[in-house]
Amino acid sequence: MDSDIREILVDEQQIARRVKELGEEISRDYAGRPLVLVCILRGAVVFMADLLRAITIPVTIDFMAISSYGNNVRSSGVVRILKDLDGSIEGKDVLIVEDIIDSGLTLAYLLENLRSRRPNSLEVCVLLDKQVPRKASLPIRYTGFTIPDAFVVGYGLDYAEKYRNLPYVGILKPEVYSEVQS
Ligand code: 5GP
Repeated sequence: MDSDIREILVDEQQIARRVKELGEEISRDYAGRPLVLVCILRGAVVFMADLLRAITIPVTIDFMAISSYGNNVRSSGVVRILKDLDGSIEGKDVLIVEDIIDSGLTLAYLLENLRSRRPNSLEVCVLLDKQVPRKASLPIRYTGFTIPDAFVVGYGLDYAEKYRNLPYVGILKPEVYSEVQS
């Protein structure tokens, strides 16, 4: 797997440090308020597991699965809910935990959908924010890292369901795409 990676963008130590900082910040900001972390499956699952353990205040978790790129590297703009939350978020303080924001289409849809369920507050914590021009500005409260506009894998992020278990975030070699697509 490592041999398919062209460059490591964020290594294991950098991720661990930043996740700890985010956990501390979130714990301070939400002190005394019951927090619900909503993990967006499947890419955010590794980040969620680490972030959850870096948070020191009481917290509950829920999961939502939405359609993503499939085996493609660009967002289709069509977002479908594959698995909805198990619990109600009405009146609750909700923090969406997302792996990466590219065009922002997925997040814009999620925010609109979850806002309509009347949470007390709704914020976003994203591990990776790609530096790309976006039509609308997105209200991202917590960001792990800002990265260049490249397709990345690892630490939960996949390409054709592979590479999620890499402990770092890296850029794939271009020849890997052509192998999978052919
Ligand atoms: P957006 O809707 O912001 O364009 O894309 C968001 C979703 O697309 C993310 O939740 C993720 O599933 C997927 N995605 C966006 N960029 C990347 C990337 O560089 N690598 C991987 N593996 N998935 C990405």
